Amino acid sequence: MKAPKINITDSAVFISDLHLHDNAQNAIFLNFLKHSSNLTKNLFILGDLFDYWVGDDARMYSKELKALKELGEQKSIYFIHGNRDFLITKKYFKENHITILNDETRISLGHHQVLLMHGDTLCSDDLDYQDFRKKVRSKVWQDNFLAKELDERITIAKDLREQSKKLNLNKPENIIDVNETTINSIIEKNFPVEILIHGHTHRQNTHQYNDKNKFTRFVLGDWNDNQGSYLIWKEEQGFEFRTFN
Ligand code: MN
Repeated sequence: MKAPKINITDSAVFISDLHLHDNAQNAIFLNFLKHSSNLTKNLFILGDLFDYWVGDDARMYSKELKALKELGEQKSIYFIHGNRDFLITKKYFKENHITILNDETRISLGHHQVLLMHGDTLCSDDLDYQDFRKKVRSKVWQDNFLAKELDERITIAKDLREQSKKLNLNKPENIIDVNETTINSIIEKNFPVEILIHGHTHRQNTHQYNDKNKFTRFVLGDWNDNQGSYLIWKEEQGFEFRTFN
């Protein structure tokens, strides 16, 4: 396997699942961006930064993007699409000094080989969701959606969000969590990765695997009205979860 293109030697910060819309998280996020410039030069946003994205032309979240753009002039900001904001284009984010990476991107942090994902593909037991994902990630669906009037797109996005909330209420907890077999096969496919960092499930935790494959899985926490959460890696101290408000 090719060596990763992103090699970080000093520090990095990872966040996901902020689900920004017009809520209290937005103010916390703006503060966090200021704060993060003292923490690291490398910020990774692993999806669902925004609660929905209906097309670049909607010019949504201008305040947040302006702050990201300013930060991106001095720092490296990377983004992986989540299941809510997968319609953001590489071109649009590039204008805002953010680099979009593929889901399943391998990077190195010091001597660690690390795999980054949003995490929705790990929930492979949720067949309804995986079917839905296949549909909305297709060019046909996206072209059709983006051709609609803005108002209609916003209505559809909100409907989809409500539908998914309702569906998840009726699903057993294990169905909407990650599938361990899928995780193991992704680790094997990305050998010699020994750390997986993802979000999506909103179940912040550190999972240590010592069976067939030896690796660590960090699940990023979500953000709420009172606080944000992030994972920081520093060359000297290693990994640590922290909260911010
Ligand atoms: Mn998600």
